[in-house]
Amino acid sequence: MHKKLFIPGPVDVTPDVLEKMGTPMIGHRTKDASNLQRSISEKMQKVMFTNKPILLSTSSGTGLMEGSIRSCTRKRAAVFSVGAFGKRWHEIAEANGIPADLFESEIGAPTTPEMVEEVLATGKYDLVTITHNETSTGIMNPVEAIAEVIKKYPDVVFALDTVSSMAGTKIEVDQLGVDLCITSTQKALGLPPGMAICSISEKAIEAARQVPNRGYYLDLLALYEYTQKKDHQYPSTPSLSHMFALNYQLDRILEEGLENRFQRHLKMAQYTRCWAKEQFELFPKEAYASNTLTTVKNTKGLSVADLNKELGKRGYSISNGYGSLKEKTFRIAHMADTTLEELKTLLKEIDDIIK
Ligand code: PMP
Repeated sequence: MHKKLFIPGPVDVTPDVLEKMGTPMIGHRTKDASNLQRSISEKMQKVMFTNKPILLSTSSGTGLMEGSIRSCTRKRAAVFSVGAFGKRWHEIAEANGIPADLFESEIGAPTTPEMVEEVLATGKYDLVTITHNETSTGIMNPVEAIAEVIKKYPDVVFALDTVSSMAGTKIEVDQLGVDLCITSTQKALGLPPGMAICSISEKAIEAARQVPNRGYYLDLLALYEYTQKKDHQYPSTPSLSHMFALNYQLDRILEEGLENRFQRHLKMAQYTRCWAKEQFELFPKEAYASNTLTTVKNTKGLSVADLNKELGKRGYSISNGYGSLKEKTFRIAHMADTTLEELKTLLKEIDDIIK
C-alpha cells in the first residue's frame, strides 16, 4: 500500500507530474532541449524572485552545495548551522580541502544576524553559507535580517540553502542579495528527487573565476558558461525526464499563484503548530518555526517508531526526529501539493492513535 507521505522529502508527486517523467526522449543537444531548459529557467526565476541566471544540475541538492562551496570559496568559508544540513556544508568543505569554520547555534535556536555580523567583521571570510529552512530541526532562519548584515560585506559570496523551502514560502533572492540560492526538486517543488537548481549572481561567477581548482562535474563556472554560451544546454547529459516534469510542475505552481501557494503552506504550518501546542510542544521557538515542516517535541515520551508503524497501517508516514533528536522529536511535513484537508486527516489519525 502506498503511504501518503508527510515526511520532509521526498514528497508525494501528483500522477500528472509523474506521467511527465515518462515523456519520450529528445536529444540533449537539440533546440528542443535548449528550449526546455530556457523555459524552466524563466519559470524558476519567477519562483525565486530573481533575474539571475538559473543553473540546473542532475544531482540532488547536495551536489550544488558542493559545487557552490568548491567553486566560489577563494579564502575561507563561514558555515552557519542550526542542524544536520547546515553542518553538511562544513563536511563538504572538509572533504574538498576548502578552509571553512563552523558556527553552530544552540540546539533549537536560529542563526542570528548578530552571530553573522561578529563572524564577518573578522574579515577572514569570503563565502558564507546559511540554511534557510533546516529540515532536521524545523527551524526557519530569519533570512531577511541575516541578509541585511551580509549586504554590508560586498566581497562575501552569500550561499543560501533553500532545499526544503523554495516554492513553499517566499524567498526573494534578488532583494536578499543571495549569490547562490540552492534548491532541489523533491521537497516543496513537488517532484521526484534527482535534480538540483540554483541561481547564480555575477559576484559568484567572478569569485569562481578566481578559484583555480573547481573540480569538473560540479564546476559552477562551467555550468554557467554552458547555460549562457551554448544557449541553455547542459555540459553533460541531463536528466531530461526530470526536466520535462519540472517544466510542467512549474506551470502548475504558477497557475496556483505564488502568493496562494505560500498562503496554503502558511495555513498548513499554522494549523500543525496549533495542533502540536495542544497535544505536545513545538520544538523550535514559534517565531522560527518552518512553514514547510513542523518539528514536534515528543513530550509524551511516545515511541516515534511505534507511532509511525501504526500510522503506516492507516496509510500515512511521518518522520522521526533527526540524529540525536530521533526519539525526542518527530517531524510532520506539509509541503508541495499537500492540502490542509489531507493534513487535518493525518493529525486526526495521530490523535486517534495517542488518545
Ligand atoms: N539541505 C536541506 C535543508 C535539506 O533538507 C536537504 C535534504 N534533506 C539537503 C540540504 C540535501 O539535499 P539533497 O538530499 O537533495 O541532496
